[in-house]
Amino acid sequence: MQQIGHWIDGSEVNGAARHADVFNPATGEVQAKVALAAADDLNRAVDIAAAAQPAWGATNPQRRARVLMKFVDLLNRDMDKLAEALSREHGKTLPDAKGDVVRGLEVVEFCIGAPHHLKGEFTDSAGPGIDMYSMRQPLGVTAGITPFNFPAMIPMWMFAPAIACGNAFILKPSERDPSVPMMLAALMEEAGLPKGILQVVNGDKEAVDAILDHPVIQSVGFVGSTPIAAYIYERASANGKRAQCFGGAKNHMIIMPDADMDQAADALVGAGYGAAGERCMAISVAVPVGDDTADRLIEKLVPRVEALKVGPYTSGNDVDFGPVVTAAAKDNIHRLIQSGIDAGAELIVDGRDFKMQGYEDGFFVGAHLFDRVTKDMEIYQKEIFGPVLSTVRAQSYEEALGLAMDHEYGNGTAIFTRDGDTARDFAKRVNVGMVGVNVPIPVPLAYHTFGGWKKSMFGDLNQHGPDAFRFYTRTKTVTARWPSGIKEGGEFSIPVME
Ligand code: NAD
Repeated sequence: MQQIGHWIDGSEVNGAARHADVFNPATGEVQAKVALAAADDLNRAVDIAAAAQPAWGATNPQRRARVLMKFVDLLNRDMDKLAEALSREHGKTLPDAKGDVVRGLEVVEFCIGAPHHLKGEFTDSAGPGIDMYSMRQPLGVTAGITPFNFPAMIPMWMFAPAIACGNAFILKPSERDPSVPMMLAALMEEAGLPKGILQVVNGDKEAVDAILDHPVIQSVGFVGSTPIAAYIYERASANGKRAQCFGGAKNHMIIMPDADMDQAADALVGAGYGAAGERCMAISVAVPVGDDTADRLIEKLVPRVEALKVGPYTSGNDVDFGPVVTAAAKDNIHRLIQSGIDAGAELIVDGRDFKMQGYEDGFFVGAHLFDRVTKDMEIYQKEIFGPVLSTVRAQSYEEALGLAMDHEYGNGTAIFTRDGDTARDFAKRVNVGMVGVNVPIPVPLAYHTFGGWKKSMFGDLNQHGPDAFRFYTRTKTVTARWPSGIKEGGEFSIPVME
């Protein structure tokens, strides 16, 4: 049985006594055991990071960026290997696993611009003979805790800017799919990163709590479910750390009567069922406006949903989505589907009997489509994180907008329409962080920032884009006077610039 330890001080080390099973979701088999760190393992990583960071922070930003340049080459070199390891533990299709790596790689490319992003501000002659300048300095030792659903992309979204800014970074990845994060750490060192600057401590709540309480760790990034995001934000903040915590989602797509229904239906199947719905930017609620729109949409959707191909990643390009991550996730999805039926929603595509021939023990869930879901139902309120799309019929644009606005989550949303005025009004008024206009999954590119509103985000600064360079640095402002003035004597009233 493969054993997965931690990446500490430049090599893989075995953990302490506790381990967790890592499954192959397609077969249901345990394929590896991953170490679950005790506080001592984490403390050791922090000591090593703290010793290594000052020299890295003092390395000029261009040299730091060159490590990332080389890392991009290595990611491309090992793309197939990374995607295979990712699919084997996560279950997503191989093309989707490559997308996971590539969306991380794009943020690494953005961070290669660190010398530019870290340039400070300068005011010449802020006062007589006085210059003022602000510089961005690294925080020191930083940490991040990541979810199972993007085991390549989200770690890179965190460690690339952290390291480009001159910090050391400790990654606590999901214990469900830890192999790719370990491979990424090894590749960063092959690219020239000094030991101790990027370390991976595998584990569960015990490792997380050790991170949250460690006085040397300056910041915590988190991506995962909302209850844990709220917990981490609170505890990290109470301990004086900078924190950005991204949580769950329930993304609505509004379909206006004038939308191109084929385009909307195609967008919905991709955004609703891709990666088996295990994406924080998946569309999980379709909101057609008017019963006629709803009927036309459903007519287009049903054959598309019924035609979706489910299978193991080993089928390559031949499948639309794979299994969900664990047996527990599968059970939870089935429980929520039953609650929808019990509450009176109409299950118009029923995937409950889906069986994957030859993979009967895998965690496969067939595609499901609900119609006539209402606001009071659990399937509407909760994040299902599975291949289940709910249709909520709205009678007007205002009602549709209100649904997206009233939901506790505010990660992403989309509107499909041919009317620019409606689209513009929607984008301006909706209280959701990322908005698509005829684009179902509006994930911003690396040079913009990513983040939701409401219960989908706790903190002030988003991921990647310019915010990442703000999150991973602190500003110091220097007011300097060099000329002769000071020798003329002290000043006793508070100085005011003239
Ligand atoms: P999760 O919250 O179960 O786990 C995330 C991380 O937290 C893991 O590293 C895990 O080990 C750790 N963790 C779990 N329980 C903990 C506890 N009690 N105390 C401390 N740490 C704990 O999330 P998941 O199932 O891995 O990921 C799916 C969730 O992530 C979904 O809700 C999805 O919407 C969300 N997500 C959000 C975004 C975003 O940007 N908003 C992106 C991807 C995923």
